[in-house]
Parts: sequence; C-alpha cells; structure tokens
Amino acid sequence: MNPDAPAPRREAGDILVDLGRLTERQLELVRHRQRRLSTSQHRAIVDLGYASEEEAARALAQAQGLDFVDLAGREFSREELEVVPLKVVLHFRTLPLGTDAEAIVLAFGDPPRQADLNNLRMLLNRRVKVVLTTPSAIQAVIKSRFGLGAETVERLRGDRTTDDDASPDVVFDVPTVPSDAAVEATIADFVDQVVGDAIRQRATDIHLEPYYSAIRLRYRVDGVLQPIPVPPGLRDLHAAIVSRLKIMAGLNIAERRLPQDGRISLKTETEDYDLRVSVIPTKHGEAICLRVLGRHSLLLELSQLGMDPGQEAIMRELTGLPQGLVLLTGPTGSGKTTTLYAALAHANDEGRKIITIEDPVEYQLEGVSQIQVHDDIGLSFSQGLRSVLRHDPDVVLIGEIRDAETAEIAVRASLTGHLVLSTLHTNDSISSVARLLEMRVEPFLVASSLVCSIAQRLAQHLCPHCRQPDPDLPEPTRTEMAAALDLAPEQVCTFIAPGCPQCGQRGYRGRLAIYEFFPISDTIADLIVPAVKTGTLRQAARAEGWRSLREMGWIKVQEGSIAVSEQRRLTHRLRRTTTV
Ligand SMILES: [Zn+2]
Repeated sequence: MNPDAPAPRREAGDILVDLGRLTERQLELVRHRQRRLSTSQHRAIVDLGYASEEEAARALAQAQGLDFVDLAGREFSREELEVVPLKVVLHFRTLPLGTDAEAIVLAFGDPPRQADLNNLRMLLNRRVKVVLTTPSAIQAVIKSRFGLGAETVERLRGDRTTDDDASPDVVFDVPTVPSDAAVEATIADFVDQVVGDAIRQRATDIHLEPYYSAIRLRYRVDGVLQPIPVPPGLRDLHAAIVSRLKIMAGLNIAERRLPQDGRISLKTETEDYDLRVSVIPTKHGEAICLRVLGRHSLLLELSQLGMDPGQEAIMRELTGLPQGLVLLTGPTGSGKTTTLYAALAHANDEGRKIITIEDPVEYQLEGVSQIQVHDDIGLSFSQGLRSVLRHDPDVVLIGEIRDAETAEIAVRASLTGHLVLSTLHTNDSISSVARLLEMRVEPFLVASSLVCSIAQRLAQHLCPHCRQPDPDLPEPTRTEMAAALDLAPEQVCTFIAPGCPQCGQRGYRGRLAIYEFFPISDTIADLIVPAVKTGTLRQAARAEGWRSLREMGWIKVQEGSIAVSEQRRLTHRLRRTTTV
C-alpha cells in the first residue's frame, strides 16, 4: 500500500462494526438503503433500527474526528442564540454553542458539507468549529425557541414587560386595561398569522388551550391533531389572544365563566372561510376551538373522491335513479358524509327536490332543505322522515338508519318513488343485507329496494412530492400483494414518503377514500331470502366482479397512493372479522 495515500474515509457504520454493534451484512443493507434513498449513512442506520439516533451520531462523530455534544437539558439563552442570525439557524439547521476569540462553535445534526462551511465562515465572519449532536436534538431546540409567532411574542414582551413582578395576565388584559393600539394591532397580527398558517396547512380545526405555564396550540390536519410549536412567552398573551378572537366572533369579552359560541367570516385572496368559534372556561383560562369551514371546498365532485372509473360510473348512475335505497357503510370518520354530499350535489344538478334529515347537519347545501334531528323534543329520524315524505321529495338523505322503524320507512319510501340515501353501521358492503334483515325488514323488501351498498374507509394519501419506491419491501408483503392483485411478485411495487416541505415532513398529504361497491343485481336480489348467508352473497358478488376493500386497498398501494402500513391499518379489523 502506498504510504502517502490518504487513509480511506471511515463512516459511522465502520465504527459500529468495530464496536460489534453492527454486522457486515447489516452494513450492506444500510449501504443499499443509503444509495436507494440518497440519504446519509447514520440516518439509514437509524431508519433500519440498527442503532439509536445517539449511537449513530456518536459513531459518526468518531468516524469524522469531531466532538459529540449531548444537548439534553441544555438551556439556550436569547443572547447565546442571537450570536447567529435566525435565518442561518433555520437554513443550516445549526445551533451556536459559544464563541471564543477565534471561532464560533456550531452544533449540527448532519455534518455540513465543505461548501456550507465556507458560506458560514463568510456569513459569520469567523472561523467555525463543528461539533455533532443528533438531528432531533437540533430540531427540538429550533421548535421550542423559534416556534410560530416567536418574533411577535418577543417584540410584545420586550415592549411591555417592564416590571418582573407584574402578573402578565394583568399587563396584557386587553378588556379591562385600556391598551394602546400598537399592542392590539400586534395581537391581531398574531391571530391572523395563526389562522393563516392553519389554513395553509389545510387544518380543519385549531385548538388553543391554556395550561398553568404554557399554551398548547394544535391543528387538526387530515383528521390528525398536530402540535404546533409556540414560543414560551405566548402564555403571557393568552388572555389578549382570547379577547381578540372573541371580538372577531362577536362574543362577550367580559364573560369568562360561561362557554360561548360564535362565528368569524374571513376572506383570503383565493377563498372565503367561516370559522366556527367555541370558547370554554378551563381552570387556567379560556380554551378556544376554531373549526375552519371553507365555503366552497365542501362541494366535492364525485370525481374527486378517489373512486376508480367503474365505481364512479355506478355512482353517477345511482344518483340519477328515480327510486331505490343506496347505503354507505363504514366506521365513524370514514368519510361517508362527504360521499353522500357529493352524491347529493350531483343529484341536485338534475333539479330535483332534495330533503335531508341529519344529526348533526354538518354542511349547508345550497338548494337543499336540511332538517336537524332533535330526539329530546321527539324529532327522531323516523318522525322526521314521516313528515319529509309528505313534502314529496325526489331525493331523501337520512343521516343514519339506527333502528327498525327508520329502516322500515326508508325502505317503503325507496319503493314509492323516492331515491333514499343513508348510512348503516356495518363493516363491509355485503353485511348491510344481514343488518337490514336483523332490523326486521322483510327479505323481499330488501331485495326490491336496495340498489347498492357501498363500504368505505379514509386513508392518508402519500405525499406525491416525496414518495418513492420502497427498496425494502418485505417478502411476505410482496407475496401477499402479488396474490391479491394477481401479479407476478416482481411486478409488485410499494411506496414510502420520507417527508418534504410540501407535506410538512409528514409524508402524507390529504386523504382519499377507498370504496367497496356491492350493486344488487337481479341474481343477487334472488338470493336475498330469510337466513341468507353473507358468504353466499359474497360468492355471487365475486362472480360478478366484486372487489373487497382489502383488494381495493392493495390497488391503491400499488399505484402509490397509500403506504402498506396504511393499508394494514384500514383492513386490520376486516381481516379478523371476515374472510375475504
Ligand atoms: Zn412530501
């Protein structure tokens, strides 16, 4: 070996192999993943679960001859962080750990490239000493110190906090202490910032909850609550923020002991929004929930729901039928209402009289009479339905068929010149027949009224911007998918999404519905007799091309719309309760 040649560059994996923490075979898999996802080696090691983030970071530091620092429990003062501009912190994902005459110590989760180091040296006009920590430690400090609205809060606190002993709640109490216009304007800015940020992230709800020493801000995006980092100082401004929102919603700002509900209308450049505001008193102040209702986004087109072309064609046909019963099934939160509204909107185009009975009325539809169920005053689904039928509507939407009485009227209506849409609590599409029979509807009435039963689930849509084929698809999954889709194993393809700015690093963006359609053909109608087995119906449906939710899910996996884990989550219960 040439003694002048530089020593081969060592990597985190080599160190872990030396330590006996990683086998050569595992290192090969790590390198494979590294190449396929163009990620760094220490991240690949962590992703594959071969070492903890800290072990990998320590190994990397050793390989590169750098110091490792543990940031756990370390407090960063404002002066300390202000040594480098905020944009440097955010762009290079680095934190200053101190300075001396010659150099500034910067901590990184991923070692900076030489070009970055040169840039930093120029920007900071100082030598830079690099130390390593874990990427999540950097992320945690950035979130806690520079969360949403950090600048606004810093500015306000800087302006207003003069006396350390003063209770912040009094200092910032807008309703009782007449405050100067500047503070109000800044609070208003902050509120706009939060609402704007939530809408950009497509949040459906904004939750703001005060605790003893902190405020929790969360958005619900695609059905999942996301914690939003806020600067620690925000707690002091909570009362002022609540007052601002109350004023916007036309609520009584002096009333703080009773819950209040209101509404805020909001205009952005592209869309109008309604915010439904609910304020409830809690031990540490008033908690606020804002429900974001986009006025236009509610009217979904049938083509936007996630149906395959065959299903969509059936749906269009169903909404044009003069009579019959169409049922949607699925657990709460599976998007049944959205599908029903899209169907109604389509039926509405045909200029027919539409009445709904709902509990609650979730969205307001133009040109549709909507009735709210009030069980406490005797207006139940069945009662409401009786009255509705006297108005002779063409289309009736019943929020849910919960009891025998409602089932009976719904079936009768659907046989006497009304198209009836409703939902039923069953797991799959075919079981709705058994469910109706359980509710003592005569088999021949089920056979003649039911035209289609549709099961649905809502799945998280993989982010189209960062999804990529998964190089590590386990063999059993490949075999299972190949069988379900009738493909050769090597044709099977699945996707993962590691996260990117477009999806807020979540890997998911939006949701899509997965449908199982069970149209009642004449052959199937003939099979609906007392004590008919669901298995018998399934067999007949299969012969006519019926595809289960599970199969539809695998199709969505193969086309890159959903992750394997999501498919498993959605069909977990199904697999145990039915054999498909
Ligand atoms: Zn993404």
